[in-house]
Amino acid sequence: MSQFDVTVIGSGPGGYVAAIRCAQLGFKTAIIEKYSVLGGTCLNVGCIPSKALLDSSEHFHNAAHNFADHGIIINEPKADLARMIARKSEVVDQTTKGIQFLMDKNKITVFEGVGSFESATQIKVTKNDGSTETIDSKYTIIATGSKPTALPFITLDKERIITSTEALELKEIPKHLIVIGGGVIGLELGSVYKRLGSEVTVVEFMDKIIPTMDGALSKELNKVLRKQGMKFNLSTGVQSVERNGDTVKVTAKDKKGEEVVFEGDYVLVAVGRSPYTKGLGLEKAGVDLDERGRVKTNEHLQTNVSNIYAIGDVVAGAMLAHKASEEGTMVAELIAGQKPHINYNLIPGVVYTWPEVAAVGKTEEQLKAEGVAIKIGNFPMRALGRSRASGDVDGFIKVIADEKTDEILGVHMIGARAADLIAEAVVAMEYRASAEDISRMSHAHPTYAEAMKEAALDATGKRALHF
Ligand code: FAD
Ligand code: NAD
Repeated sequence: MSQFDVTVIGSGPGGYVAAIRCAQLGFKTAIIEKYSVLGGTCLNVGCIPSKALLDSSEHFHNAAHNFADHGIIINEPKADLARMIARKSEVVDQTTKGIQFLMDKNKITVFEGVGSFESATQIKVTKNDGSTETIDSKYTIIATGSKPTALPFITLDKERIITSTEALELKEIPKHLIVIGGGVIGLELGSVYKRLGSEVTVVEFMDKIIPTMDGALSKELNKVLRKQGMKFNLSTGVQSVERNGDTVKVTAKDKKGEEVVFEGDYVLVAVGRSPYTKGLGLEKAGVDLDERGRVKTNEHLQTNVSNIYAIGDVVAGAMLAHKASEEGTMVAELIAGQKPHINYNLIPGVVYTWPEVAAVGKTEEQLKAEGVAIKIGNFPMRALGRSRASGDVDGFIKVIADEKTDEILGVHMIGARAADLIAEAVVAMEYRASAEDISRMSHAHPTYAEAMKEAALDATGKRALHF
């Protein structure tokens, strides 16, 4: 029987990063992945393919709508969806091959098959051909991720009633895509098809889109996406979805309790993701789940069985690739006897619409509910020279600081390249910067980042310079 110091089950951004860090720390490390390709949800059917299609569709949208304004005259552009999907697959292929290279480079043994516990120290790998192999491992890290959440009254046929996975592989541009769920997946993939010419209708249960983010972001994103032609039905609960040939019918109740019916040719169900523990044999190892089916861990990501840890989407917390990776690193270092720490308040969240939405720290709603006295600074993107030069004038940066100490408690932004701009806020908050600190730092001109300085200045009470 092969023996390892650490075995990781699942090769997503949580699992593969944990395996690399374990190997770097000198552990004999194995990783088990049920699919033949490494990288998990993020690299295969999540972050990377969705961003490839977002980029392609954005180029198309700009060619169709914005080039003329820049003085570039082209014939009417046509979208070649098959080529976009093929390019996306090439990007995924290059990225997943990179993970295989990293496994080889770090001398990590890769097992292809489903990993399931036989006991707290033995894991059986069941390969595709049904053959099995059992390995012995001193420590195990569960990194099995998540799957799309299903609604009990919806049968996903994966052709016209689909999840994000199928939405990344469509053979035609929908005429009318109905999106159930105005969260991150719904808005990102809704944007892809809206830009390619689909009619897109979002049906959201809550009274706002991206409901967990700061209310100001949700309001502005709603406004901007409506301007792009997306339609929103908020406070609307879906009750049934039916397919009839090439048509789909979604029946829902609006906030007045009245029935509303939407007809289209595709329905994307994007109502969240659920932890994936099927087939893991957790009961044989004695590992407990929490009330929401996630692997239960303590603050060191250790399960109730001391040599078994769990990370990423399968445990509590934000379902984000970078959160999973931080946890992978932390667990490897904990096993090595080090004392790492993750500040979960400083895990940024991004929505890759255009303009992009990004945030870190607490929202205005959270801080008010906690009774924290705050002051808020805002700066609109349209007041920046850089924004006018590129034509990306939508959005703003909002800096929330402590009323007394001036420490930055949350930064919420929507605008061009917000996904990259948020890194400044993370660094600032990690070092517990005050709004005044940021307002006094030189920001290159002309850049979108100047909005961060100006919003911080506004938060100090001195008022922004350019607005
Ligand atoms: P996963 O990536 O889900 O990997 C788990 C792996 O475990 C899978 O490969 C699975 O096959 C394997 N596995 C499961 N059970 C077993 C078993 N018993 N034996 C062997 N292998 C097993 N996050 C971001 O931060 N940024 C984004 O831009 C972003 N975009 C996204 C877009 C979409 C469309 C989706 C669906 C998700 C997106 N996410 C994004 C979320 C991100 O993909 C997840 O948070 C991340 O993949 C979680 O990593 P993980 O390692 O915990 O699990
Ligand atoms: P989400 O939690 O972001 O959004 C789901 C939305 O569906 C919510 O707004 C919710 O109110 C709504 N909803 C739930 N039940 C509903 C119903 N019956 N009818 C109508 N609306 C309903 O989940 P998601 O968009 O499916 O994404 C899943 C996970 O993947 C998220 O946790 C997210 O963090 C991650 N992800 C991240 C990124 C990124 O970082 N850019 C991109 C995609 C996915």
